Amino acid sequence: MHNSILTDLLTLSHEIGREDRGLAILGEGNASARLSDEAFLVKASGTCLGTLEAEHLVECRASALLPLLERESMTDAEVDGALLASRVDSAAKKPSVEAIFHAYLLSLPGIRFVGHCHATNVNQILCSLRARDFAVHRMFPDEIVCCGAASVFVPYTDPGLKLSHAIRHETEAFVQRHQRQPRVILIQNHGIIALGATWQAVISALLMAEKAARIFVGAAALGGPVFFTPHDVQRIDGRPDEAYRQRALKI
Ligand SMILES: [Zn+2]
Repeated sequence: MHNSILTDLLTLSHEIGREDRGLAILGEGNASARLSDEAFLVKASGTCLGTLEAEHLVECRASALLPLLERESMTDAEVDGALLASRVDSAAKKPSVEAIFHAYLLSLPGIRFVGHCHATNVNQILCSLRARDFAVHRMFPDEIVCCGAASVFVPYTDPGLKLSHAIRHETEAFVQRHQRQPRVILIQNHGIIALGATWQAVISALLMAEKAARIFVGAAALGGPVFFTPHDVQRIDGRPDEAYRQRALKI
């Protein structure tokens, strides 16, 4: 069981880290997978997604990281200490500081894989005045199929504990509003997170969001984009043929 999750997580990491895709270069981005209620695997700090191997993954205890979300603030040294203390094997590498939000997202119902990166075209928009527009609107059917009817938008904040707080706050508001888990979370001036039940769901959301970003920028240059109305979005979202396509794509 653990072996197939490990293989899937390495596959997801390599797919995100392919340099030709421009989703992540060097040590950018990270990925994680749920092993059980108690434990998950996450990329170690400073390792490269494109060439990730099993030894670059750290098994962490969720119960050691989730309580950090209840803390108002912690020093960088305290966060580092908590990250190290969350390791199941104390000889393992240090988990990424973003392991805190991975722990939270993997605790959501039905979520088993999470991928995060600094995708070039998505960040082109997230670093612009139109970041929120890109998160809340949809432009074409496949964007809805792979990325959901809307994305969570998180205003810029300090990476680490503060960002994990903000992600939880905005995700809870999204679930209240939409009555379902998000597929995509967009962090202003930072990057994208995709979450899902399978590694395919995560890579599909990341690739489609990156394509949507290219379309958004091109459409903006031509005086657009023209967004779907809420009715159009709902219609695509509820169609049985789109649900069939989602199952076929394992997303
Ligand atoms: Zn990041």
